[in-house]
Amino acid sequence: PTPTDPTVPAPREAAPSSSAETPVIEFTDVEKRFGDNVVLKDLNFTVSRGERVTLIGPSGSGKTTILRLVMTLEELTGGYIFIDGEPLTHEERNGKRVPVSKKRQKALRTRIGMVFQQFNLFPNMTVLENIIEAPIHVLGRPKKDAIEHAHSLLEQVGLPDKADAHPTSLSGGQQQRVAIARALAMDPEILLLDEVTSALDPEVVGDVLNILREVADTTNVTMLIVTHEMGFARDVSHKVMMFDGGRVVEEGHPDKIFTNPEHERTQKFLGAVL
Ligand code: ADP
Repeated sequence: PTPTDPTVPAPREAAPSSSAETPVIEFTDVEKRFGDNVVLKDLNFTVSRGERVTLIGPSGSGKTTILRLVMTLEELTGGYIFIDGEPLTHEERNGKRVPVSKKRQKALRTRIGMVFQQFNLFPNMTVLENIIEAPIHVLGRPKKDAIEHAHSLLEQVGLPDKADAHPTSLSGGQQQRVAIARALAMDPEILLLDEVTSALDPEVVGDVLNILREVADTTNVTMLIVTHEMGFARDVSHKVMMFDGGRVVEEGHPDKIFTNPEHERTQKFLGAVL
């Protein structure tokens, strides 16, 4: 087809430029060990503002660990991670790798939201309380504003009447939608999605993905995504990175990676999951 062929869908908006601006996320020579097990080694990549990057690859290749490092849920054992150019866990000073202060780290972490496979809602709080907790106690938002925002987010995720429900009374799909609302309540610059549909019944997976598609379409939030939903990855990502053994074996535009992968490892992986 020629570029003017009307049957060709309009291309997704261009990936944000990576050169002009400081990357939102930057991994520099990142190493992560659990004991003797080196999970990530010499990992370098950047994510630009508004960019949506999906990590794919076999189980155990280090994808979730990458998200957990950005969320500071795991200790970084080597190298550096920068958020908006600021060191997240360690910085180099006088040639030495030294930890950054807890205060600086906490400030950076407020810019990052994460949605987990297992929802991780606070079971002893109502849905509304789950959503307003961090905006009030971490960001210092007035309670009235936080509640108002929470109600509009519940509307957005299709649960306008569940504010007073307890998480345990909700289905998995509903809990995950609350978890998405909770992450968005912080107005995060970065949203980390860790296999958010893997624990859900198949019939509700589509609803949750549609909510995330809408977030992608209507906000400029930078996303780092780990998913087995290749259709979703293809729809929303600007870039796909294929991992194996803690290294990037191939990366590129989803149309390229999913239809014409170059690396044999990627071909095999996609052959098994598609
Ligand atoms: P993926 O998300 O690609 O499936 P993970 O990041 O979950 O991979 O895991 C990568 C490797 O790190 C695996 O070998 C896993 O066993 C190991 N690992 C992850 N978390 C821990 C932990 N808390 N303690 C020890 N090893 C871990």
